[in-house]
Amino acid sequence: MAAATVPANTSVILLDIEGTTTPITFVKDILFPYIRENLEEYLSDHWEEDECKQDVHLLKKQAEEDQRQNRACPVHTVDQTVHTDEEKAIREVVESVLWQMAADRKTTALKQLQGHMWRAAYHSGKIKGEVYQDVVPAIRGWRQWGMKVFIYSSGSVEAQKLLFGYSVEGDLLDLFDGHFDTNVGAKVESKSYERIAERIGCAPEEIMFLTDVTREAKAAEEAGLSVAVVLRPGNMELTEEERAQYTTITSFSQIGLSSSA
Ligand SMILES: [Mg+2]
Repeated sequence: MAAATVPANTSVILLDIEGTTTPITFVKDILFPYIRENLEEYLSDHWEEDECKQDVHLLKKQAEEDQRQNRACPVHTVDQTVHTDEEKAIREVVESVLWQMAADRKTTALKQLQGHMWRAAYHSGKIKGEVYQDVVPAIRGWRQWGMKVFIYSSGSVEAQKLLFGYSVEGDLLDLFDGHFDTNVGAKVESKSYERIAERIGCAPEEIMFLTDVTREAKAAEEAGLSVAVVLRPGNMELTEEERAQYTTITSFSQIGLSSSA
């Protein structure tokens, strides 16, 4: 059975989300389809609200920018302040957003609207953040050992807090001492892990990082962290070489203290 021992000097456990605490399919199978399926209704319901107007304004500017750069995309041409044909205006925004999502664009305009839709969905209970069953009991245990627990994910800190604040197991935010996103740097760069240690106020060697991605594990190791690679259903398979190189676990329950600690 896979198992990992926390080095004796460890004081912090740092957790990735997707593929680690949460099924890697959560974003692809729950969050993104939610946007596609509820976009039109959301826009209709919130069209007159300032926040929604700002989101639409940003999307419109993005579409204009895309057109200038000759990207083939539907353009939201109707001024949203003219309410002569609201339905048509909404349909154009819907088309523009669906096109951006299909093209896997990462524009600020798209992310902002998605963020607002997900926030509303979490608040209303339409979406609940998924966490594997072994996650909460393990974190409680680590905290009892005196460990601090932090999150480091490419999802924004706001998105992380929604996922854990409105999870299938209720509000879990009390389990964490803090959150990091890519504002601290990319997850495949060792500098990011040095910065995280600095922000937490400990040595890199005191942190154990759990992730499903070996490139992230490698970067963390280079910065001095200890790592374990998490194998979950649907995660990218490790190569023979990677399996030999890294400590792997299939459940957080396999993390144990070293007997001398
Ligand atoms: Mg991951």
